[in-house]
Amino acid sequence: MKSFGYTITKDRQIDYDANDRRLIEYVEGIEPSIRICMECGSCSATCTAGHFTDFSIRRLHTLLQRGETLHLRKEIEKCMLCGKCQLVCPRGVNLRNLILIIHQALDKLHHDL
Ligand code: SF4
Ligand code: SF4
Repeated sequence: MKSFGYTITKDRQIDYDANDRRLIEYVEGIEPSIRICMECGSCSATCTAGHFTDFSIRRLHTLLQRGETLHLRKEIEKCMLCGKCQLVCPRGVNLRNLILIIHQALDKLHHDL
């Protein structure tokens, strides 16, 4: 094929319908406080794990909302469960419990969720 000096970039469109929403539905059912998050980023700015690794609790939340569970386990394992994020959250989102429930949900997902 003739080279025009450029390549066509890979499609980066997110197909929400194709993603698995079972995890977020399970998590929201047990910890509904996640629904009132206003994406301010205070949790990420304070996060202990975020200071030492590339962990971002906001990214984790986005992956969860999109139903993208593929990288979620690797990401969540970086959290130290220190609870600092929860102390600064202006909406009182129960983030520590949320992380524990995601762990639980990821295990369940492979069985009957
Ligand atoms: S601090 Fe609370 S409201 Fe702000 S992004 Fe984090 S969870 Fe959401
Ligand atoms: S509990 Fe996890 S997400 Fe929250 S501040 Fe600590 S390390 Fe970060």
